[in-house]
Amino acid sequence: MKIAVLPGDGIGTEIVAEAIRVLDVLDLKFEMESALVGGAAYEAHGHPLPESTLKLAREADAVLFGAVGDWKYDTLDRPLRPEQAILGLRKHLGLFANFRPAICYEQLVGASSLKPELIAGLDILIIRELTGDIYFGQPRGRRTAVDGHFPGAEEAFDTMRYSRPEVERIARVAFEAARKRDKRVTSVDKANVLETFQFWKDVVTEVHKDYPDVALDHMYVDNAAMQLVKAPKKFDVIVTGNMFGDILSDEAAMLTGSIGMLPSASLNASNQGLYEPSHGSAPDIAGKGVANPLATILSAAMMLRFSLHQPEAADRIESAVRHVLAQGLRTADIWSEGTRRVGTREMGDAVVAAITKKTITG
Ligand code: NAD
Repeated sequence: MKIAVLPGDGIGTEIVAEAIRVLDVLDLKFEMESALVGGAAYEAHGHPLPESTLKLAREADAVLFGAVGDWKYDTLDRPLRPEQAILGLRKHLGLFANFRPAICYEQLVGASSLKPELIAGLDILIIRELTGDIYFGQPRGRRTAVDGHFPGAEEAFDTMRYSRPEVERIARVAFEAARKRDKRVTSVDKANVLETFQFWKDVVTEVHKDYPDVALDHMYVDNAAMQLVKAPKKFDVIVTGNMFGDILSDEAAMLTGSIGMLPSASLNASNQGLYEPSHGSAPDIAGKGVANPLATILSAAMMLRFSLHQPEAADRIESAVRHVLAQGLRTADIWSEGTRRVGTREMGDAVVAAITKKTITG
């Protein structure tokens, strides 16, 4: 098994270092090789996703990714900006299914802006299609309007589209994932207004015939956005398109209190995956040793479960994280009165200690 380690920029290097220490103590046989990506790769090689980094990612069974970006690159031409590395990796590795679990840990119930009774025990999984939809549909651009409300005016347009194979494969991923959970899928669409999403709904309904043991319901995206804050625990697996998934997964992230706790996985058809925290490179706190490494450590657990077929090792990491939270250790983003504030390294130390069953001191 080979893992490509791409720490990236900002806090990426700090949090990935902790995830690697956690992987190291599991005593599993895999090879890890690091490469530059994002701004760091641009500085060294003039491109955010150099050929050598892409080659390493292609040859690996999984990619452990930190975060990329910094405000200082905002003036670069778009293809050279750090964030393009993520789009490039998604495209070249064929990553079409993004998994974002939103789990509210018992000890962090108070960190959410929602009432504790709404989110205590929350455990939902949002599956977002990553390769289609209005983000990639052609044609797109600017032109002079020939019709509409203002003929002759300047206008911009994008194209929303999904093909049958794209919808079928993401639907299958969702039904398979639900089989390992509470066996319920909510497909989110806007079928009442958009042809693309009436098609989405029809195809998901057809695929569902192969999964009679899983319950399927359909929900319009506006209602889903509302239900996520009204009664989020009613959901099990949510499957949706690229744009709706982009928005709903961030909304779900905030249910749990801190983006510093949320892992994510993007998988291709052969279960090769890119695993990364849901947050960015946090330039405001980079280099200060205060970033929460748990989202990245939990991403490493997802990597073990989905791409490296080591579910027991994944369980060990996840229970170690629960253990350190129960010990009252908190990085600044999840700190509250009565808990002990620790830095990035100390949090990593505590997870390592919990895995190796050493006593956590202090
Ligand atoms: P961000 O997620 O980096 O930060 C948002 C806020 O959350 C900041 O206040 C930050 O300090 C805090 N935060 C984020 N992760 C944290 C952690 N692990 N522990 C504690 N606090 C944490 O989003 P942003 O500020 O909008 O973007 C910063 C840069 O990251 C930009 O260049 C953006 O393009 C990039 N970005 C990259 C990714 C990615 O690599 N996948 C995703 C989002 C944003």
